[in-house]
Amino acid sequence: MTVIIKPKEVNISREVDVLVVGGGPAGIGAAVSAARLGMSTLLLEKRGFLGGNITACYVENCNWFLAGTKFSTHGLYAEIEDGYRLEYGRSHDIRDSGNRFSSEYLRIYLDELMEKEGAPVLFHAFVNDVVMEDGRIRAVIIQTKQGPEAVSAAVVIDATGDGDVAFAAGVPFKQGRDKDGYCQPGTLNFRIAGVDARYLSENGDKLKDIGRKFEKDYLSGRTGLECKRKDLPFGRLTRAGMLSYINYPCSYKIDPTSSADLSRGERECRRYIKQFMNYMRNNFHGFEGIELASIAPEIGFRDSRRIEGKYCLSRQDIEADRQFEDAICVFPRMYDMLSPDGTMTGDGALEGEGNRGHIFVHITGDDDRTFQVPYRCLLPVKTANLLVAGRCISATHVAESGIRAVFACMLTGQAAGAAAALAVNSKLPPEKIDVKKLRETLKAQGLRL
Ligand SMILES: Cc1cc2nc3c(=O)[nH]c(=O)nc-3n(C[C@H](O)[C@H](O)[C@H](O)COP(=O)(O)OP(=O)(O)OC[C@H]3O[C@@H](n4cnc5c(N)ncnc54)[C@H](O)[C@@H]3O)c2cc1C
Repeated sequence: MTVIIKPKEVNISREVDVLVVGGGPAGIGAAVSAARLGMSTLLLEKRGFLGGNITACYVENCNWFLAGTKFSTHGLYAEIEDGYRLEYGRSHDIRDSGNRFSSEYLRIYLDELMEKEGAPVLFHAFVNDVVMEDGRIRAVIIQTKQGPEAVSAAVVIDATGDGDVAFAAGVPFKQGRDKDGYCQPGTLNFRIAGVDARYLSENGDKLKDIGRKFEKDYLSGRTGLECKRKDLPFGRLTRAGMLSYINYPCSYKIDPTSSADLSRGERECRRYIKQFMNYMRNNFHGFEGIELASIAPEIGFRDSRRIEGKYCLSRQDIEADRQFEDAICVFPRMYDMLSPDGTMTGDGALEGEGNRGHIFVHITGDDDRTFQVPYRCLLPVKTANLLVAGRCISATHVAESGIRAVFACMLTGQAAGAAAALAVNSKLPPEKIDVKKLRETLKAQGLRL
């Protein structure tokens, strides 16, 4: 059975040069970059705050993989790290290694940043449709409690993580690994209060030891826990005994774009959190008095739709550090793909292609390998005035696990914002802009290419 949704006439409520959909790392990068180049911009975000997975999923120590390596951050991401640190210090974090945010303060920091940058944000603006005209997006449709609202722009940037705008525009996409379409699991991070912070931080980082013991016990079947997860990444530990966050409950074989699957994932993960709390209380010194402080607003995803673009970045490109004339982002070589089906027996090697469990290839201290992302990965095969940034750009499933890092997503966001500005100024579609000029603009914005 089907029903017909009646067409509706909707006023275009706003018109801007560059419209960004999605306020995660990529969207923030895109909106700030375009605003700095003099564009009128608007950022639409479905939630009530910015930050994407960093704030909505508590991914607060997102750059841990750069600690102790030859690499450092640059561009807007580095500016945010520095600015945040200046204002909030390390937010009472007593664990070492890299910069960490308190995602609560970060929400406030990002509000102020966008205001300072002259990059307006509209919250509670869920986009689920577009109106097409001659192969271009004429208007983007926001669902509000007052009904649909239309916004139009010369260039639209899809930074939704899930490629929602591109999907609505009919851009073809891939999702999950090739053999069965499974994405990495959804994870519902949470915070606990009441750990014995002094004990856990005295004489070294005991949380690391706990993680190691947990893994051993899980693999030997001793934990009895239902959730398929052997590693236990802990985030910030505060003096007051808060552990923010615990990256543990994983739900597998979820399609991140299906409400039914998402509902299953949310419920499953909450059940795992309950089991985990009891387990930790009874098995680890320092955790006897813990309380569940908060569960992240929503289950988070590391990958979902990857749009079909003018170029598809592959693992081979990353391994060969293939050089592209239109390179808009250079990033350290790394891969991090949680097992899409919950297989725990793999050795983490890249050769497994995600079919043998987790791929876990990280940057070691003396490793200086990098890879390039060409501009064409941001250009969908169709829809003349659309650019895509962040984790949904055009890449294979394995390559995506390298470019999904928060810092990389902000870099592709910055590139999309600058490209959109060049397109508006030169009155050309994004595909036709002068890529040399784009690269110069990005360098001027502090990006190392
Ligand atoms: C559990 C977990 C742990 C992770 N750990 C790390 C880590 O340690 N280090 C690291 O670098 N990366 C990590 N990642 C990956 C990283 O968080 C993401 O890849 C990154 O945040 C992607 O950025 P993005 O801007 O492309 O998308 P997102 O962060 O997903 O942001 C997308 C934004 O768009 C909004 N949005 C979505 N759809 C719509 C719509 N239709 N209309 C309006 N708004 C919309 C969302 O609310 C969100 O704010 C982790 C991810 C998860 C889930």
